[in-house]
Amino acid sequence: MDDHAGLLTIDRAALAANWRLLAVRAGGAECAAVVKADAYGLGLEHAVPALAAAGCRSFFVAHVGEGFIARAYAPDAAIYVLNGFAAGRISTYRSHRLRPVLGSAAEIEAWHQLGAGCEPAALHVDTGMNRLGLRPEEARVLIEAGNLAERGIGLLMTHFASAEIADAPENAAQITRISDLAALMRSRGGANAAIPVSLANSSGLFLPGAPFFDLARPGYALYGGNPVPGRPNPMRPVIRLEAPIVQIRAVPAGECVGYNGNWRAARASRIATISCGYADGYPRNAGNSPDHPGGRAIVAGRECPFAGNVSMDLITLDITALPEGAVRPGDMATLIGDGLDLDAVGRSARTTGYEILTNLGRRYRRVIRD
Ligand SMILES: *Cc1c(COP(=O)(O)O)cnc(C)c1O
Repeated sequence: MDDHAGLLTIDRAALAANWRLLAVRAGGAECAAVVKADAYGLGLEHAVPALAAAGCRSFFVAHVGEGFIARAYAPDAAIYVLNGFAAGRISTYRSHRLRPVLGSAAEIEAWHQLGAGCEPAALHVDTGMNRLGLRPEEARVLIEAGNLAERGIGLLMTHFASAEIADAPENAAQITRISDLAALMRSRGGANAAIPVSLANSSGLFLPGAPFFDLARPGYALYGGNPVPGRPNPMRPVIRLEAPIVQIRAVPAGECVGYNGNWRAARASRIATISCGYADGYPRNAGNSPDHPGGRAIVAGRECPFAGNVSMDLITLDITALPEGAVRPGDMATLIGDGLDLDAVGRSARTTGYEILTNLGRRYRRVIRD
């Protein structure tokens, strides 16, 4: 074994191809890239240049600090900051040409006071999440006043609560609310009529019959996540995660493995211990226990189940089904890749692929493929 670190391979050609596929899906609408949370855990410094080179001209981050970093890799792009207007950082918005996504009357007013000399902000309308943004009736009053452009607002956006559930009734309700506001804005004429509208996230781009308006904002699907759960994933996998086997041991029938002895050998078993654990962001909830099958890894081409709990730095795999001598310490086990996709890994840990991505650990050796 050369090293204890897991190996995280990031395929930037696949990332760029995924953006292009979504850009084609968006049709006449522009396709942005959501790169919040350090590009969903992949690293802004890796993702943003590849997306910009593929043709992406608009990016969304969550924090001003992320926008500050993204700017270095996309000098000409529009960069929106989703989590509201952090007025204390106004000089950074100005110097780095960051665009806040305004989500309340107070933020709109503060932007009006402070935003001179900045690029235009976005206005967030909450059409059904009750999380961020003006209520539709508040947005209506503002649009009817007809001075969005004068207030430094250059985009109207909302966000789906359940786009990955194609038949969720809330989708149609949200589409109606934003469509009504968009139509109202168009009917006003002048500068306000030209303000673009943005709705779709990754799954929204695959919702049958959903309008895309002017700008789509996919995140997860760019990184290989499945925007249509339960159906074949149209995206290319972007990350691959492997961890070295540090030890292979024989466990007699009846003995237990790991913390709290959650797994008991039903027969004489062989266990491979790999160097990856919850300190690397691999969820402890992926442990195998009597009530939950837990995670799996591919070893020597075969899917092997976890045996017992995930430890801080180690995971134990049941490799009894492999031929004796099929693997040795130092060989790699695949935790994501080789058919084990992000969404399946998320389910095995009772969470989503989003959380798997954004928790990808800092100890992995990151290898970039272009
Ligand atoms: C995270 C986010 C997105 C991207 O969503 P995905 O499901 O990752 O495509 C788009 N818009 C907003 C407001 C978001 O918070």
